[in-house]
Amino acid sequence: MTQFLKGIGASAGIVISRAYRLKEPELNVDKNSIEMVDEEILRLDGAIEQSASELEKIKVHAEKELGGDKAAIFAAHLLILNDPELVNSIKDKIKGEKVNAEFALKEVSTMFVSMFETMDNAYMKERAADIRDVTKRILSHLLGVTIVSPSMITEEAIVIAEDLTPSDTAQLNKKYVKGFATDIGGRTSHSAIMARSLEIPAVVGTRTVTTKVEHGSIIIIDGIEGDVIIDPTEEMVQQYEEKKAAYEAQKVEWAKLIHEPTVSSDDYHVELAANIGTPEDIDSVSENGAEGVGLYRTEFLYMGKSDLPSEDEQFEAYKKVLEGMEDKPVVVRTLDIGGDKELSYLDLPEELNPFLGFRAIRFCLENEDVFRPQLRALLRASVYGNLKIMFPMIATLEEFRQAKAILLDEKELLKADDIPVSEDIEIGMMVEIPSTAVAAKQFAKEVDFFSIGTNDLIQYTMAADRMNEKVSYLYQPYHPAILSLVNQVIEAAHGEGKWVGMCGEMAGNPIAIPILLGLGLDEFSMSATSILPARTQIRNLSKKELHAYKNQLLAMGTVEEVVAFIKEKINI
Ligand code: PEP
Ligand code: MG
Repeated sequence: MTQFLKGIGASAGIVISRAYRLKEPELNVDKNSIEMVDEEILRLDGAIEQSASELEKIKVHAEKELGGDKAAIFAAHLLILNDPELVNSIKDKIKGEKVNAEFALKEVSTMFVSMFETMDNAYMKERAADIRDVTKRILSHLLGVTIVSPSMITEEAIVIAEDLTPSDTAQLNKKYVKGFATDIGGRTSHSAIMARSLEIPAVVGTRTVTTKVEHGSIIIIDGIEGDVIIDPTEEMVQQYEEKKAAYEAQKVEWAKLIHEPTVSSDDYHVELAANIGTPEDIDSVSENGAEGVGLYRTEFLYMGKSDLPSEDEQFEAYKKVLEGMEDKPVVVRTLDIGGDKELSYLDLPEELNPFLGFRAIRFCLENEDVFRPQLRALLRASVYGNLKIMFPMIATLEEFRQAKAILLDEKELLKADDIPVSEDIEIGMMVEIPSTAVAAKQFAKEVDFFSIGTNDLIQYTMAADRMNEKVSYLYQPYHPAILSLVNQVIEAAHGEGKWVGMCGEMAGNPIAIPILLGLGLDEFSMSATSILPARTQIRNLSKKELHAYKNQLLAMGTVEEVVAFIKEKINI
């Protein structure tokens, strides 16, 4: 009987094929008392060594098949393998409790994994997956169990697994593995990122796919919608074959626009930029034809480490992005820490309302020892491309002035040391706190540009925590208050001859795009894979016509009215 499963579309595309159940090996660990402590430690060292040489091989394979950026995960695994904090804790446990290496390894890694997992932060959660992956590898060597790897698949198949570890995905051979579906994972999990870079359809986070799919049965993966169809009927197969063909044809159409500018049907140009989190992301930025980077979230440089990144480390990262973008605009946002993004090593006190607390620019202005090195790194990198800097979570004009003054002070200090700095750096701010949207006119006089962060602007305007599913219905980008604030910001900026971008999720939404185009937004920044569909859409829209609807749209009372109106006008 046909079954349907809903998951998260991690990589777009459709595939119909036989399921290949990738089973987790049995790695049962018993607790045993041991006498020969030194021998046990030697066994552990041996297993670590074997794991290291295996990882080196996988890294080389990944470098060849997936490129250096993706292979970096295995360099990270090698680091975990050699991490004295982890390895010494295991050895201490063997010595102290006279237990076998397997048990000590399992206990210590479980402790580390749960520590990372409880962090309310997607990036740190992924680090937990890395430790789990490395532990599994060492354990398999201690137990003498072979880990079944996807490289053993030699016929076309869709891989079904609880989760795919980074090393699993690195061994996927595109020739045979046509897609995959997993029980766990989210859009930012390693497996999802790998699937996108391999460009194979994938659905993650189905919760139950491994219990529902038999090895060898026919399944359909719809990575666009996040659907898995198990044992489809002939009719469904036919229907999905058609959907697949249409999607492939659409992709060919999108690809034609990679080097085209984003112009509306009446010749109005807007800039389509990408949001990135790491320098490695710029490959997909170029592949998807972005005209710039509209938001570089620098906090990822600070996360997943035990200490602050050095000025030089940051300089290298910023330089890489600026050079990689070849003079296209790159908007770098200074450190936005706090809220849901914690830094364990800074040891900040717990707050009752972290989203309303001591975060982002508030933290940076009080901690110049953290803020200044970032600004210096940015200024030094500025000569390698077209850099624009913006400050997050600005609430008052004083904050903006203070942040800008520190930036300019660092610039003078660098120049006094004969270190070259670009003279054309635009300095802007995020508009994500309602106070700045309401008083946009005053801010517009002093900034070079605005970038509207709707993820936060909506949460603060609607008083609805963006992490709380219970109130997620209040995430309403088309609420009259939000549209009015966005409009106000654009009008204020344009009144002062400044440009306005948007880097919140709203900017890539097909319903929002026509509204924003009509309101006069200059730059739309979104995830790289949304760029070509957005460009296709904008080329078919008339800016003049949409602008003519502006007052009507802004006067509407409900989201439903707005959505219905737009759908009717643009035919979607
Ligand atoms: C936003 O708030 O819209 C934004 C882009 O920033 P972040 O999602 O990183 O808070
Ligand atoms: Mg924000």
